[in-house]
Amino acid sequence: MTSSDSNLISDNNRRLVPVRGWAGYCRASSSFRSLSAKGSLQEILHETSSWLPVGNGCSYGDAALSAGGTRIQPVGSGQLHSDTKNGTVWVSASMPLSELLPQLSIRGWTLPVVPGVLSATVGGMVASDVHGKNHLHRGSFGNSVETLELILTDGQKIKCSRETEPDIFRATLGGMGLTGIVTSVLLRLVRRSAAIAEVAVTPTEDLEQTLQTLEKVAVDSEHSSAWVDFSLKSQNPGRGVITGGNLIPVSEESETYQLWQPCSGPEFPPLPTPGEKLVFWHNRFYHLLARRTSRVSYWPLEKLFFPLEAWSSWQKVYEPAGFHQHQSLIPEEAGLSAVKSLFQLVSKGGISPTLVVIKRMGEGRGGLSFPAPGWTVSMDFAHGPEVLALLGRLNQFTVEAGGRVYLSKDSTLSAELMRQMYPDLGSFMEVRNRVDPQRRIRSCLADRLEL
Ligand SMILES: Cc1cc2nc3c(=O)[nH]c(=O)nc-3n(C[C@H](O)[C@H](O)[C@H](O)COP(=O)(O)OP(=O)(O)OC[C@H]3O[C@@H](n4cnc5c(N)ncnc54)[C@H](O)[C@@H]3O)c2cc1C
Repeated sequence: MTSSDSNLISDNNRRLVPVRGWAGYCRASSSFRSLSAKGSLQEILHETSSWLPVGNGCSYGDAALSAGGTRIQPVGSGQLHSDTKNGTVWVSASMPLSELLPQLSIRGWTLPVVPGVLSATVGGMVASDVHGKNHLHRGSFGNSVETLELILTDGQKIKCSRETEPDIFRATLGGMGLTGIVTSVLLRLVRRSAAIAEVAVTPTEDLEQTLQTLEKVAVDSEHSSAWVDFSLKSQNPGRGVITGGNLIPVSEESETYQLWQPCSGPEFPPLPTPGEKLVFWHNRFYHLLARRTSRVSYWPLEKLFFPLEAWSSWQKVYEPAGFHQHQSLIPEEAGLSAVKSLFQLVSKGGISPTLVVIKRMGEGRGGLSFPAPGWTVSMDFAHGPEVLALLGRLNQFTVEAGGRVYLSKDSTLSAELMRQMYPDLGSFMEVRNRVDPQRRIRSCLADRLEL
């Protein structure tokens, strides 16, 4: 999330600062407070009529933005809150993956599920119920959450789990921060693997082959995804590169047992916003490279899990207008034909997505959690007026296919479509009405979707 100190405005006691979502398109002004363990909470709750818990602002759209309210970020010690002996650990919600993973690695543990960004915090991962490239086999982040410490709107701190306050627990996993401030999380861990993984790269020549190959690779590999060349000028739109990775189990004595300290790469060079030509050449080059190098090889885990971290701040290439990521879930029942129809719709729209990734998804958790059995298709589009119209058509198509859009990436959905996409919305709203009847917790996303 970026903010500009040069553009401060004032509202009585609080200073509102313009803030942008990670993709740079959604913007809103809010004040900011950090919440330390010693607690300045009552003071914060007193001075503002609406507030929103936030992490590091890696949501692409407006999920972590507040219009006129206070964004509250819990602050932790940077250390684990308990030992990891029995395979669980208490961690602060403010801890980013970039700090958590190395600390777990030293102790021989790791997380079963990680999203593709290192600065996501534990609280943000809970609130988005994030998924990785292994969703088909491991489910989402929420599966490894045992207990949450949550501050409710009246300032009361509660612990919730599958046994205690189960409704609040379920609603908070994937609940986009709208049930309270998560301050600490008890996580179930898995034994860590080697810091390298065995990875097979398979280039494909058209959409049919891309989808069929992903089907097979997703079953055979723990971690899988398909990058798709959908430049409209491409000779073969729909051709792709499928990546399938398997982790390598290790013992502490083994030579391959190295510590894992993933970090972001250098700053992205200043380049023009990718237009049709740049996307065409980039995709052509990427596909050619995969054809030349396709084989089984050993990759550092960060290359498999966090490929976008190869460069820091790459999203700035889309400045000043920003970009959108449309991430939809096409359900199993709709079949691969619906995935193909989604691509046809993009083709008709006449705008090339700059990046397209497909992942296979398994059982979901319900509530507002995004994952469900099927395929998730993520497409980045540089912002422009025609893009908004195209995204509207993609949203409509997704709902008609029985699918849904990922709220942590969304910037364009309407309240009406949202209601049709998430069948458990009613039970989520019951909890939301109970814990926050006065709607003290508000985000731009919640306002837009009438949550
Ligand atoms: C490059 C990139 C790759 C990504 N890849 C993936 C991926 O592979 N899979 C995936 O699922 N997601 C992915 N994401 C999305 C990202 O994982 C989520 O948006 C995540 O929530 C970001 O965490 P954050 O700490 O930055 O939270 P923020 O963006 O700050 O907030 C996200 C939501 O969480 C809530 N929240 C944050 N902290 C708390 C808290 N302490 N208590 C209660 N609510 C809180 C906020 O209110 C907001 O609704 C990616 C994002 C980027 C930028």
